[in-house]
Amino acid sequence: MAKVFVITGPSGVGKGTLIAELLGRVPGLELSVSATTRPPRSGEVDGRDYHFLDREEFDRRAQKGEFLEHATYSGHRYGTLRSEVDRRLPEGVSVVLEIEVQGARQVRAAMPESAQVFIAPPTPESLRERLIGRGTDSPEQIDERLRTAEIELAAAEEFQHVVVNDEIQRAADELERIVRGELEGVPYT
Ligand code: ADP
Ligand code: 5GP
Repeated sequence: MAKVFVITGPSGVGKGTLIAELLGRVPGLELSVSATTRPPRSGEVDGRDYHFLDREEFDRRAQKGEFLEHATYSGHRYGTLRSEVDRRLPEGVSVVLEIEVQGARQVRAAMPESAQVFIAPPTPESLRERLIGRGTDSPEQIDERLRTAEIELAAAEEFQHVVVNDEIQRAADELERIVRGELEGVPYT
């Protein structure tokens, strides 16, 4: 049975890194490409990394009900287009959503059958180190993301599964077990 997997957690915790590992390990999973009003970072490609939309277009599509969920994060809009999910599930393809916490809550409400995984940092300080190491955000943007992270971390316990991303291979093993368990109908606890 195809399923929706929501992977959430604060910026810099390693969601993208762990999802890339997961997609390489478990066949039959595809990543949903989100829409955003954030400007592309260097190297990001429209349609591959995000559907980059201007604010007007984003709001127009939101009004038309095209989003399964959407939220404002660090001053920009982000959302999952229903089409990203709806075209895959009937083909038996499971969909991974990499989204922030407000959106994850909306998906949980709209699709209680979805599986939800919160990725947590080993220590709060590791988030700053990882964001600096990633080199994609200015010091001001990092501060803003860390302020949001404090609120997001408090939400961890709401989620069905929590994986601490201490070491990439160990955390990816745990995430893989969770996903395989959900796909086989035997949830890993
Ligand atoms: P997110 O998608 O949650 O914002 P990323 O996957 O972009 O986070 O990871 C942020 C940074 O942390 C990247 O530079 C990544 O290489 C690094 N990283 C990811 N997981 C770990 C880990 N377990 N230990 C150390 N660094 C990590
Ligand atoms: P970034 O700007 O680093 O790409 O993403 C910022 C935050 O937005 C991250 O926590 C990321 O998971 C989240 N995000 C990306 N796409 C979506 C989406 O479609 N919906 C929601 N709600 N959040 C998203």
